[in-house]
Amino acid sequence: MHITRQMKIEKSEQLDHLAHEAGIVYSKTLVAFKKILRKKNHWTSQYGMQRLIRNANLHSQSTQGIVETFYANIRSWSKLRKTNPKARLPKKRKWYFVIPYKSDAIRVRNGKLLLSNGRGNPPLVIDWKFDVPKYVEISYDEGYVLNAVYAVETEAVSTTGETAGIDLGEIHIAVANVANETVIINGRELRSKKRYFNKATGKLQSKIDKCKKGSRKQKQFVKAKRKMRKRLNNQIKDILHKQTTALVCALKERSVKTVAIGDLRNIRRNVDYGKNANQKIHGMTSGKARHMIEYKCEKHGMETVIINEAYTSQTCPKCLNRHKPTNRDYKCPKCGFEYHRDGVGAINIRQKQMYQEFVPVVGDMTPPVGIRYSRNLGNQRTSFFRRGECQFVYERDCLRKYKDGDVRDGDHNIIPLGSWELVYDFIVKNAKEEANCASQKL
Ligand SMILES: [Zn+2]
Repeated sequence: MHITRQMKIEKSEQLDHLAHEAGIVYSKTLVAFKKILRKKNHWTSQYGMQRLIRNANLHSQSTQGIVETFYANIRSWSKLRKTNPKARLPKKRKWYFVIPYKSDAIRVRNGKLLLSNGRGNPPLVIDWKFDVPKYVEISYDEGYVLNAVYAVETEAVSTTGETAGIDLGEIHIAVANVANETVIINGRELRSKKRYFNKATGKLQSKIDKCKKGSRKQKQFVKAKRKMRKRLNNQIKDILHKQTTALVCALKERSVKTVAIGDLRNIRRNVDYGKNANQKIHGMTSGKARHMIEYKCEKHGMETVIINEAYTSQTCPKCLNRHKPTNRDYKCPKCGFEYHRDGVGAINIRQKQMYQEFVPVVGDMTPPVGIRYSRNLGNQRTSFFRRGECQFVYERDCLRKYKDGDVRDGDHNIIPLGSWELVYDFIVKNAKEEANCASQKL
């Protein structure tokens, strides 16, 4: 399994030069391929082309990598041609192109990533505090972006373990249920980001519409809009990553083996809910969240199953009576079962996976535990995650485990407890007690 670390890098003359050289290699390949095809009616092989194309300003493997990309494009064209007669061979020459670096050209020395550009050329040097990647690619998307690819070993799937049900949603990114425990990923941060995204896009769009077509002013607004959308999309992606990591981690801690995810795909098509609802549903990030949960589960040795989520949010987990909840709490009119609405979905998805149909649950449900997004704990959380531990920030009390191993409260005071398990129990108990208090007050 491969994972990618992505980061922005500063624009420099060297990068511009290298990207341009990559563009030259790509264009040369394209022209040579077409010329040979036209004049000799010969389809040059990738191997032949790699021997033909040389560039003194790039690492030889980088040059080969660009040729490989060209041939990958050719292959996808010949595949597409079978179904789409309009498909054309790649024909556009490139001024700039993606710079690939293969393992021979990648080194890490004294906190710097050194990317070799062949003999006689200065290497590209980037500050680096991570492991040596297997493959690096530098592309351009509103600025230079470095993608470092790592090969990670996935944990073996255990033969026994719990089953979890996950309900993806709009209000909460995901709600997971394992036995009688429910974990909610809070989506507040994400929602406000998305709202802002839609609002800002609309504002800039109206400005674009008001301008004279093709004017300099309009171009400026178009550029601003693109930049803004890119930035906010990155922020949304960041939130999703941190939240899904925390969730998968919570599942791992509960020794889950199978993860059943309720499918949302069918509501994306066909249905028109009106303008307002549409904006909500199409802006839904659940597809992304699902993908992230799936591969993170795989990495940690958990298998994922997609479950048809029809009626899962309407069926009472206790008596199987069907009832459509009108607000955020599910209250069964028949047996009086009361629970968090999205929690009900997750419970039913889990039951469906375990018994292939809705089966009443036994035992009481504990109040849901929330995972809140915390912007500053991202890297730490991931590093805990790697060691099989996890960083939780709970909804009510903000106990946090810091990088140095200490657990602190919201005011950064150290909580004097040695082991993380103790703290974890403490937090869960606290959360449960508080939730009980809260429900009694109501
Ligand atoms: Zn009921």
